[in-house]
Amino acid sequence: MTSNMERIRILRKEKTLAREEMRILLQSMTEEEETFLFRQACEVCSLYYRKAVFLRGLIEFSSYCRNDCYYCGLRRSNSRAQRYRLSAEEILACADQGYELGFRTIVLQSGEDPFYRDDDLCRLVAGIKDRHPDCAVTLSVGEKTRESYLRYFQAGADRYLLRQETSDPAHYRYLHPPELSIENRKRCLDDLKEIGYQVGCGIMVGSPGQTPDHILDDLYYMAAFQPHMVGIGPFIPHRDTPFAKEKSGTVADTLHLLSVIRLMLPMVLLPATTALGTIDPRGREKGILAGANVVMPNLSPSGVRGKYLLYDGKICTGDEAAECRHCMEMRIAGIGYEVKVSRGDWCGMGGMQ
Ligand code: SAH
Ligand code: SF4
Repeated sequence: MTSNMERIRILRKEKTLAREEMRILLQSMTEEEETFLFRQACEVCSLYYRKAVFLRGLIEFSSYCRNDCYYCGLRRSNSRAQRYRLSAEEILACADQGYELGFRTIVLQSGEDPFYRDDDLCRLVAGIKDRHPDCAVTLSVGEKTRESYLRYFQAGADRYLLRQETSDPAHYRYLHPPELSIENRKRCLDDLKEIGYQVGCGIMVGSPGQTPDHILDDLYYMAAFQPHMVGIGPFIPHRDTPFAKEKSGTVADTLHLLSVIRLMLPMVLLPATTALGTIDPRGREKGILAGANVVMPNLSPSGVRGKYLLYDGKICTGDEAAECRHCMEMRIAGIGYEVKVSRGDWCGMGGMQ
């Protein structure tokens, strides 16, 4: 009989586990096994990144979205959502402020907002790279054509975040309206990788209708896709969506998955997400102690932060960028880690981290 301790050892060594073994590991873990899992994940992470945590400055530049994902507060059918768009000047000013605060990666995220044409996005990316050549730029603006992705890349974008959300087609249909498909989502991820981006995929933990089998499918999908980054956080309901009455994902499930992903993809850039910090005041610290190595403080102007609400209860909506930066530094130092002022590229790229 294999024990969970043994399963964790095998997972670390082989970077995978047979499906039924993985299922058992994720189903039930004692406190002792959990501690062991977290320690293994942190050890593996420190082999590649030492005890450094990378910061990404997140600019949420538009709360308009043409999509209607059932779980998200920005969905187009949510008539109560407050919509805003930042101008190019405002976005560049946020990026400048981020640079001053020591961020060397700027993440531009938005709903899928056709107001910003490819030319606009290219100008934005090039504008940031021009002013701050030592910064990486990450885009997270949803599903586009391969040509668009190529144009942003040629304009200087380095990374792209696009969660698959769930790799099971039926579950994908349960979470999204019919015009969205997992096939196109995966097509986007394949295009991004082929073009040369550092690519991040990921899921919401505990999303409505999610079963253990869906999670297993996602883990094996990620193992096959080999992303550079994985964004996972708990699903949190938003009151003005069809899933308003659903339960949130749990801290424990999210932490277990962070550790398992670290062991499957040792070099991966793995954020302790704002959603995790929302369901638990020490969620991000716990995430780092489970093997995460990235945090993404908010750089958006404080006047619009409370309007970019994917889910209820989002933290830090009243803070200024400098406060978030300082707060993260303190939190990370408090658990014996150190904030690294660098681009924080995927370590398989070679060069300095
Ligand atoms: N529009 C882009 C980027 C913004 S949404 C896109 O969809 O890719 C970024 C991520 O927020 C989504 O991938 C989703 O996983 C997450 N998200 C949306 N609604 C959420 C909710 N209710 N709880 C937790 N995460 C959510
Ligand atoms: Fe739009 Fe992204 Fe929200 Fe879907 S998850 S509604 S694409 S912002």
